Amino acid sequence: MKKVVILGAGYGGLMTAVQLQERIAGDEAELILVNKHDYHSLTTWLHEPAAGTLHHDRCRIDIRSLLRTNRTRFVKGVVEAIQPDVSAVRLADGERLEYDYLVVALGSEPETFGIQGLKEHAFSIRSINSVRMIREHIEYMFSRFRNEPHRSDYLTFVVGGAGFTGIEFVGELADRIPGLCREFDVEPSQVKIYNIEAAPTVLPGFDPELTEYAMKVLSEKGVIFRINTPIQECSPEGVVLATGEKIPSSTVVWTGGVRGSSIIEKSGFEVVRGRVKVDHYLRSPGYSNVFVIGDSSVLFDPETGRPYPPTAQIAIQQGIHTATNIKSLLEGGELQAFHPELKGTVASLGKGEAIGMVGQRKLVGSSASKLKKIIDNRYLFTLGGFKLLLQKAKL
Ligand code: FAD
Ligand code: NAD
Repeated sequence: MKKVVILGAGYGGLMTAVQLQERIAGDEAELILVNKHDYHSLTTWLHEPAAGTLHHDRCRIDIRSLLRTNRTRFVKGVVEAIQPDVSAVRLADGERLEYDYLVVALGSEPETFGIQGLKEHAFSIRSINSVRMIREHIEYMFSRFRNEPHRSDYLTFVVGGAGFTGIEFVGELADRIPGLCREFDVEPSQVKIYNIEAAPTVLPGFDPELTEYAMKVLSEKGVIFRINTPIQECSPEGVVLATGEKIPSSTVVWTGGVRGSSIIEKSGFEVVRGRVKVDHYLRSPGYSNVFVIGDSSVLFDPETGRPYPPTAQIAIQQGIHTATNIKSLLEGGELQAFHPELKGTVASLGKGEAIGMVGQRKLVGSSASKLKKIIDNRYLFTLGGFKLLLQKAKL
């Protein structure tokens, strides 16, 4: 029996497993899904638990509850190395998994561009564990300020990078501040949230009208923007900007971009910013039985020559597509090329506020916010049907 091993149960990997297990007969292939935790993280929601506006448990889904145990074996384990020359994977506990087909969907890691001190001193929004730490740290800073009121750095929050992650996070954080101020007896005027962006505008490359709207809404909520000013250094004392300005802060959250999982580069694959440049069947160059999907891969738009962005939207579509292609290979059929269907982008600006571009249509305010919830709920339904929707739906 052929063995299909899927590494990573994020948007791409879990969707591949869930779709493939429905399409294959029990004796057609053995499916093995490996993930470092036994839950799937709703990463696209993580700015909320990071700020503390949603409990982190709402963002995790028990992986086994989505698997057919007679079709798919779940292995809770950490992938340490991929050995494509011998079609095997090594896990941190020493287990070795051999495969006929491999799907690599290990996601991404923060890209710090070698900026001094960022890796050591900044938080990042990447997993349940990382966002729980951010939320608890923010609360701790408020409680410490009560005892050391001269330390304004405790109440100064720096978010480095105003891409979609940075913007969504400052929106949530600004919403959380009034409640924290009440809880810890702090004057709201003492709290500062800085969002620092290297490019001449926030959300570089996005629609200018929507970008302006986002800045207006967030500025009204109290967010202070510094644009065109890259962070040059980070330390326990705060950040230094390229302009020379120093912002003393005990909380720096880095949202300056992502690169592919380091496991892939360490395993000897050729990468661009940690991501494997895949062909239109999503295969790795040189290994026709290795598919790389989601944030671990990079695919270029043939029309613009530019890479598609690393998004859940694309990872999900690639997961569904790869399930179809592997099913076809198992039956001796042909592979189909992948063409993403780009449906648009909707970004939250906090409670009840969002911006969105769907086709040529621009949406702002509550209509965009409602659409964002529909997108989140649609994913739950595609993944786990009504049962999962009832458990986790955003209302
Ligand atoms: P992931 O979903 O990150 O999954 C990777 C999986 O691999 C994880 O389960 C992880 O635990 C596992 N893993 C990693 N390393 C190992 C290892 N060594 N061993 C075993 N398991 C391992 N995109 C959108 O399209 N729309 C949005 O609205 C949106 N919002 C976002 C909001 C935030 C706050 C963030 C941070 C990102 C957002 N994104 C959004 C981007 C989106 O989350 C990613 O593009 C998406 O998660 C990529 O899916 P993936 O399957 O490649 O990786
Ligand atoms: P990103 O790469 O999209 O944005 C990072 C931002 O940090 C950029 O604007 C960049 O100019 C800035 N930056 C880089 N170096 C800097 C420095 N030294 N100082 C200050 N700013 C600096 O990364 P992201 O926001 O984490 O997003 C990652 C991916 O996830 C993207 O593809 C994004 O589209 C997707 N995403 C989508 C949504 C959504 O659709 N709602 C939400 C979050 C993330």
